[in-house]
Amino acid sequence: MSRRQLTRERMVAWQIERRGIRTPSLLAAMATVPREEFVPADLRPFAYDDRPLPIGERQTISQPYIVALMIEAAHVAPDSRVLEIGTGSGYAAAVLGTLCEDVVTIERIPELADQARSRLVRLGYGHVSVVVGDGTLGLPDDAPFDAIICAAAGPEIPTPWKTQLAPGGRIVMPLTGSTGGQELVVATKSSDGEFSQHGLGGVTFVPLIGEHGWS
Ligand code: SAM
Repeated sequence: MSRRQLTRERMVAWQIERRGIRTPSLLAAMATVPREEFVPADLRPFAYDDRPLPIGERQTISQPYIVALMIEAAHVAPDSRVLEIGTGSGYAAAVLGTLCEDVVTIERIPELADQARSRLVRLGYGHVSVVVGDGTLGLPDDAPFDAIICAAAGPEIPTPWKTQLAPGGRIVMPLTGSTGGQELVVATKSSDGEFSQHGLGGVTFVPLIGEHGWS
């Protein structure tokens, strides 16, 4: 086993499995995706640290555990159609792309989207589509989605996502409360279109900027 592989296995065991993530396919995916390829070259020694890291443009790659928590909460299956908002480095999209064939990710900053797209192609995740735009609008032409995962915090769940989510599907996103704190929430759409919501605890994300987010 290579040193990098060993570091990944340790990350999965110590940061992810030990905190209660149990989905075998997700743990295997997190042990496979080379996170060091998704961070700036000077931060590679820290790629497997238990924290987010800067990726340029004042944005971050999320902490590995938070990536795993969100994906587990989304209940994705190999045949799920998944929409990610906030491509950033492309790391979470690569983990999703390991689990599902049909993944599209939206990034509002063109420079980040371009870098993520070429990185994903180079590393063998070319089936993941990267779109530049305002992810709060979703992608009406590609809907319905079985899961919508957002890596930026907004004031409320964007209405277009609720419409574009398939019955039985899940939205996972951080919401900013009235006191400024953020909570990771999971909203599930029932077969009759009603939503139920539960929280997964406090988090810290960059803001979701767009028509149905922050201005
Ligand atoms: N998932 C990413 C990864 O694995 O590296 C981390 C994403 S970073 C925490 C959040 C990203 O959301 C930023 O790159 C930011 O530009 C993007 N973002 C914020 N508002 C957005 C919007 N309305 N549409 C698309 N992307 C948005």
